[in-house]
Amino acid sequence: MNKLRSKIKYPKISNYTYPSADKRYATYKKLEKEFNLLLEEESYYIVRFDGKGMTKDYRKENHSINTIFFKTMKAIFKAFCSTKPNIIFAYSFSDEISILIKGTSSKNSITARVEKILSLYASELSVLFYKTAKENNLELKRDSLFDARILKVEKDKIVKYFCSRQAYAICNFLQLLRDKYNIDRNIIQSFEIISELEKKNVFYYKQPPEYRFGLIYSPKKKIPSFEFVNNLPILESLITNQLEKVNSH
Ligand SMILES: [Mg+2]
Repeated sequence: MNKLRSKIKYPKISNYTYPSADKRYATYKKLEKEFNLLLEEESYYIVRFDGKGMTKDYRKENHSINTIFFKTMKAIFKAFCSTKPNIIFAYSFSDEISILIKGTSSKNSITARVEKILSLYASELSVLFYKTAKENNLELKRDSLFDARILKVEKDKIVKYFCSRQAYAICNFLQLLRDKYNIDRNIIQSFEIISELEKKNVFYYKQPPEYRFGLIYSPKKKIPSFEFVNNLPILESLITNQLEKVNSH
């Protein structure tokens, strides 16, 4: 370190201007553009955020649900979605959140650039989680971080996407119940787990719908948790009504 310091020259500094800085950076500016993807106008996208290590970190021994963690995720899901007018529909369970958005015509808006959406939204969720966890006295295990991925989804595949994420949510909660009540881990079918639970006087159908089905967000309307696959017309209407509202803007 000291050797390097003795080699560095400290004369008067060279001449700098913003235009000359731009010139030095020009090559890299071009490279930046390579990943500067814009959402396509009239196309639909789902962005999914996932908490890093959170399912493992906040699993509570002998509990099916860590209620403080659940409360924290629920609060950040609502706080995050309700400040984003571009969110058409959103769904959350465990440590993940999926939002449905649409490509915009304004190319400069932060809601048009993929890089901005992924990085800013994931950062916002991370900060929100940290702040809310502190308020709820949730003991943090590590830095609270969310990653983000984006999928371009055809209009007719949107409903199926949310059904498929909910399938994971349902399996996840059943697995937590199965483990809590020491049911054989080789039992993997939902109907079998439910009947094994009943033998132990644990009634799956009496568990809170939020735990069983996850959380739903639709702008301007509070939506109770429900099973998507068995209520497809409701899910479809929630999504398509909003799509029409977005289309007519
Ligand atoms: Mg995770």
